[in-house]
Amino acid sequence: MKFIVLAYHHINYEKRPDCVSPGNFESHLKILLEKGFKPRHLNEIIASPHDKDLSITFDDGYLDNWVYAFPLLKKYSIKATIFISTGRICLEAPSPRYNLEDVWTKKIKKKELPLIESHFNINTKSFDEKDSKEGFLSWEEIKFMAESGLVDIQSHGASHKMIFASPEITDYNKGQYWWIKGATGGDSRNGIPVYQHRSAIAARKFCDDIKIRNLLAGHVNSRGEMDFFKKNSWKKELDTTLMEFLEGKNLHGVWEPEEEFKERLKYEIDLSRKTIEQKLEKECSIFCYPWGEYETFTVDRLKNAGYRAAATFNSGANNDETSPFSLNRIPVLNWNSKKFVKEISSFS
Ligand SMILES: [Zn+2]
Repeated sequence: MKFIVLAYHHINYEKRPDCVSPGNFESHLKILLEKGFKPRHLNEIIASPHDKDLSITFDDGYLDNWVYAFPLLKKYSIKATIFISTGRICLEAPSPRYNLEDVWTKKIKKKELPLIESHFNINTKSFDEKDSKEGFLSWEEIKFMAESGLVDIQSHGASHKMIFASPEITDYNKGQYWWIKGATGGDSRNGIPVYQHRSAIAARKFCDDIKIRNLLAGHVNSRGEMDFFKKNSWKKELDTTLMEFLEGKNLHGVWEPEEEFKERLKYEIDLSRKTIEQKLEKECSIFCYPWGEYETFTVDRLKNAGYRAAATFNSGANNDETSPFSLNRIPVLNWNSKKFVKEISSFS
């Protein structure tokens, strides 16, 4: 028994490898049908696998899944699974926004489709409660897709946060990490240290020292903010400032208490499942690891919470030996028809 799972993120026109253009996505769907694949929902495959099964999945629940992907899935009657993070839902759109189908039926012009922001901007804003989550799906859109029977909704955790996971500094912030506010609790000042980081469900959290953040952010702020980083020696200067400050002292932060760690896992794993089940009145049984990262304790928590399988970012097909809690997927990039055929053939 062998089956493959395709992993998409965005279907839109942004020039990034993981943003598949609607045109290329449509050719992928046509090719799958031509090759005799009949994509099934991942939970259907887990419940009763058939040989040569194939499943299409989307991670993160971006608005473009509704605007571009869903109308195309509908056009070809193809099933897909969307993994949503329940803490990253658009709450500002009371009714489903326009999508490609409204263009096909001449209800609107193409330019009236919702504006799709860049991947970086959508995600940067996803950790600040005050910021709009317009780049993500709304519950109304999610329900509409789920009710069509074509889209199955499963869990991608709650927060999609990255956390600091050790006292080792790997870099300093200068706006290059879209997840930084999630790790720091809202602090994205230039110059603050970036510690070794991991997905929120794959590590115990290292709570860094605010004094160190204040020291380094202050240093950068008083020396011209972004201009400070134009100097070749900026990194060395921050390293030295920190070393001088720490001399003889050990102000490196603390590990989160065991209880908080357990609560955090429950929030991400158990609560995201419950929220989906309550909102959509259906079973949520599959998890998709944010950032593809997990540990044994993550899998234990998933099993405990009632999940039956989990998807990774390990590339490959699945067979009888694959553990249901480490399902392989094929990350699909903005491939044209030829490249898509080549990639799919190498796995099927
Ligand atoms: Zn993700």
